[in-house]
Formats: sequence, C-alpha cells, structure tokens
Amino acid sequence: MVMLQPHDGKSGEPSFFKFDQISHDCKQGGSRVKASGNKNYRYGGFMKGKMQDWPLLVSKLIDHAAVNHPNVEIITATVEGLEHCYRYIDLHLRSKKLGQALLKWGMVEGDRIGTLAWNTYRHMEAWYGISGVGGVTHTINPRLFTEQISYIANHAGDRILMLDLSFVPLIEGLQDQLTTIEAFIIMTDRSHMPETSLKNVICYEEFVEAEDGDLTWPDLDENAAAGLCYTSGTTGNPKGVLYSHRSNVLHTYAALMVDALAVGGRDVIMPVVPMFHANAWGIPYLATACGAKLILNGPNFDGATLHELITRHDVTMTAGVPTVWLMLLNHLEETGGDLAKVTKVGIGGSAAPRSMIQTFQDKYGVEVHHAWGMTETSPLGTVATMTHETESWSAEKRLDLQCKQGRTVFGVELKIVDDDNNEMPKDGKAFGHLMVRGPWVVESYYGDDGGTILDDDGWFNTGDVATIDAQGYMQITDRSKDVIKSGGEWISSIDLENIAVGHPDVAEAAVIGIAHPKWDERPLMIIVPRENAQIEKADIMTFLRGKVAKWWEPNDVVFVDELPHTATGKILKTELRISYEDYRFPED
Ligand code: AMP
Repeated sequence: MVMLQPHDGKSGEPSFFKFDQISHDCKQGGSRVKASGNKNYRYGGFMKGKMQDWPLLVSKLIDHAAVNHPNVEIITATVEGLEHCYRYIDLHLRSKKLGQALLKWGMVEGDRIGTLAWNTYRHMEAWYGISGVGGVTHTINPRLFTEQISYIANHAGDRILMLDLSFVPLIEGLQDQLTTIEAFIIMTDRSHMPETSLKNVICYEEFVEAEDGDLTWPDLDENAAAGLCYTSGTTGNPKGVLYSHRSNVLHTYAALMVDALAVGGRDVIMPVVPMFHANAWGIPYLATACGAKLILNGPNFDGATLHELITRHDVTMTAGVPTVWLMLLNHLEETGGDLAKVTKVGIGGSAAPRSMIQTFQDKYGVEVHHAWGMTETSPLGTVATMTHETESWSAEKRLDLQCKQGRTVFGVELKIVDDDNNEMPKDGKAFGHLMVRGPWVVESYYGDDGGTILDDDGWFNTGDVATIDAQGYMQITDRSKDVIKSGGEWISSIDLENIAVGHPDVAEAAVIGIAHPKWDERPLMIIVPRENAQIEKADIMTFLRGKVAKWWEPNDVVFVDELPHTATGKILKTELRISYEDYRFPED
C-alpha cells in the first residue's frame, strides 16, 4: 500500500513519503533504501569498481557516428564557392585516410599540427584525423595580428600547417618567420591549387586520397593532448590551452544536455562560431555524438548567406557571437525574411543584449540559450535556462534571467571571491572575481606560461567579474580590467552597454573608465549609431535614466563610425583606452 503525506512546502523541515521500504527526503533531494533483510557489508579500504576501462577518446566519437548515423549529411559552403555534401560515413573514412597520410609523412604522437581554416568538412577531417592518430590539432585564429599568428605557430612548435586557400597570401608573407613548420598542406583539390611561393607544399586532396583508410585508431591514453587553442590575449602574448581527449569527450556529454546547448539527432546545426574560436563550442564533437546534420558556413558570415543556408537546409539550431547575430537580424529587418525552422540559438562570447534576446524570441519565435565560457573552459561553463522555480516567473523576470549568463552545467563549479579570495554571497548583488573549476577547465597553460594558475583548492581565476544570485544564475558584469572604479564602488560597463544597444538608433556601444580627479574613474560611453540615425547625447541620457542608478550614468557620450574588435568579435577596450587616453570630461 502507498501512503503519501504531502509536504506543505513551508515548514522547512523535510517530510517523508512512505512508499513501502523507500523513503524520499524531499529537502535533501535524496532517496534512501532501508535495509530489509539484506546483509550489511562493511569494507575498510579502496574497492575498484568492476566496470570496463574505456578511454574517453575523440576517435570514439567519429567511430560512433559512422556506425550509428552513417547517412546523416554534412553540408559545407566551401572556400572554393561550391556547396559540398557528404555523410558521416565519408567523414569517418577520410579522417582515417588523413591519419594514415600524416603517420606516413612522419608525424608522431604528441606532434602539433596547425590549422588555419574555416568551418568546413575538411577542417572536420583534420580535427578527427590528427587527434585520432595521436597528434594535437592546433586551431589558429586567422583574425589575429600576423605577429601573433607566427608567435603562436612557433610557440606551439607546429610541424605542419594545414591552411585554407583564403590564407595562402597571408602565410606566404609570414613563412620566413615560421621556424618550426616543415610542410604546408593547402586544403583544396588539384584543380584549385594556387601558384604559391610557399615551400614544401602539399595538396590536401592528393595527400588524403593516396590512402585507403584501412587504419585502426591507436589506443591512446584518454589524458593525452588532443587539441590546442590560444587565448586571444588582448594584453601580453596569447597563451595555449591544451585540451585532452578526456576533457573534450566529457565536455561533449555536458554540452548536449537539454539545459546546455540542447541538441539531438533530429537537429540541423549550423555552428557559426568558428572552429578556431574555443572549439566552435564543441559542436563538431556534439554533432557526431548525437547524429545531428551539420551545415558549415565556410568563409561566409554575412547576413544574406547565413539566412540562405538557414532556409535552404532547414537549420534548427545555430550558435555564435552577438556581432554575427546583429548582421543576421539587420538582414532580416531589411528583407522581411524569417528564421524558418530555427528553434534555438546559442549566444555567447560577449553578453547577449536584452533587445537581441527579445527580437529572437518575440519576433522570430527562436529560443535563446545565452551561454558563458572561455577558451580555458573548453568552453562551456554556464547557460541561462529556466528551472522549476524560475519557469513560473513573469515573462519580464524570465527575460532578466536570460540576460544573465546562467547556471553552471554539471561538471563545472563556480564561485565569486573578493580581492582577498574570500567567497562572496550569492545574492545577485555582490560583485566578485569569478572562479571556476572542473574536468574541462585549464590546469596550466601550454609550456607552463604564466606558471601556477590555480589556487590551492584548484580554482582558476577567470578574469571576469560577476554576481551569482540565489537561484544560481551568474551574471558577468565586466572583465576585471574593464570594470569602472568610481568612488570606491564598481560600475559595470557591460550593463551600461547592454542598455544602450536597446535604443533603436544605437548599433553598438562601449563604455570605458576615464580618470577623474574626484571619483578616480567615471564612465565614458562611445556609440556607433545605426545608419542614417540622428541621435544626440541627450537622447541617450534620457534613455538610460531610471534604468541604472543615477551615479552609474556616463559623464559623457561620444559618437563614432566604428569600434575596434578583437579576433573573436569582442570590443577591444585596450585600444579604446589608448585612443581616449587624453580625453577629459567637459565638466573637468
Ligand atoms: P574567449 O576565450 O575568447 O572565448 O573569451 C572568454 C571571455 O569572453 C570570458 O572570460 C568573458 O569575459 C567573455 N564572455 C564569454 N561569454 C560571455 C557572455 N555570454 N557574456 C559576457 N561575456 C562573455
């Protein structure tokens, strides 16, 4: 017989539901099976579980795809300007062929192989082929300054550079500075091979197609390095984050969850976030794990091409940084287009403005998954999705939560601390340094650059400043070096920027701290108006009034044609600070 004794939800005391011999403790969330006639065994020491020791390898992902979703398609808008389509079974075979070719060339376990490439099927083959046979896929961001590209390739000690046709001129100019590269593989076929001054050039298609694919992936240690990606390094040299097979596979399981990127075998995913930016948020791994169809945009990021790919291929999920979505939403606005079958969009890399979340959801019926992460966290850390409690909040309050960066996915732990490393309250108000730890979070940088980067308890200081509220939603208020310190208090530049871009005439906004004789620093707002918009400082000040505390209001607003951006699409505040070094507020 089942006897239920309902919990009143108020007393704060756990209540017990009698269900034969099982009692559920609602407060603790646990369930305990009472011993009923079973013997109670006691063990005094370590007992090894009797489960199979199956190393978590990246090659298992592509093997899984070949067996379980062989005919699912991968469609690429190629660098050569054509549309290419093949299936996971083809990706699997050609990744093995590439692995064979690399081993024959002389690559050995642990060798770093650089890639300078867009999101394409050949880049996917490189990811799986290189790490499948024990190499390290080193994705290089082509948008970095040229000195940074050569620094990164040399620092990593890349032996081969695999590059798309688009980057041949760039690398021709740099080849004398690339001290470790022994061969350049141009990722195209014979008919598209360019005339080039690069030495030791190999045509990718000939390299791959000379092999038969008859290869068994080696049994690697799951802790072996699989990938390498350098941080964009706005100050100092970029630093390398060396992912392991294990960290990549664990990240894959986590990122697939419904409250993370929420993708599955019926999805058509278009990762607009590039494979050279924090592993395209792991999507090339998630897709093989779950069997989603993939649409790869190659070198195309303009609103018109993205829209065309979305509608032509019935894309259901896409992910990228706010700047890309700004271009797509502008295009839709101009053309009156819609987002067809898209149901979810992942936004991260920079804060998703409220107005952008609203437009996606209210105008186009697309659910926004606002996420936070970093190169150092593989990258997924948090996603703003609803819980039992918050699901019933008003639409406005749920939108407030979506503007935050969200709750941790299982596997990642977060806290905020003050300057003395004391944990700060999770009340949604206290700002602190955001600390993170978990099995896909960096332990130390490649080459031990920067020395010890974890504290005694294994926490990594993200360099972000954040709040965490009582429901566990984290909100980035700034990079620690961008926060504006006014009269001993902190002003969030991100909050001010997000509110400003909600003004219909504002395309982009940046806020920086300017030295102030009385307050130490005060905010200066720099605005890029929308095309043909007539807008003045007074309009912005009126728009901000009441939306932020009076003392947060900027002391001045200036208008510019464009803002400088980093290689990953973030506003380059270091450059803005230099440009406005001599700026003084009108009242000073
Ligand atoms: P990267 O390693 O280039 O991906 O940069 C990581 C940094 O981007 C983080 O430390 C944050 O400062 C910023 N970032 C990432 N996602 C978000 C987000 N959703 N909102 C605000 N900042 C973000």
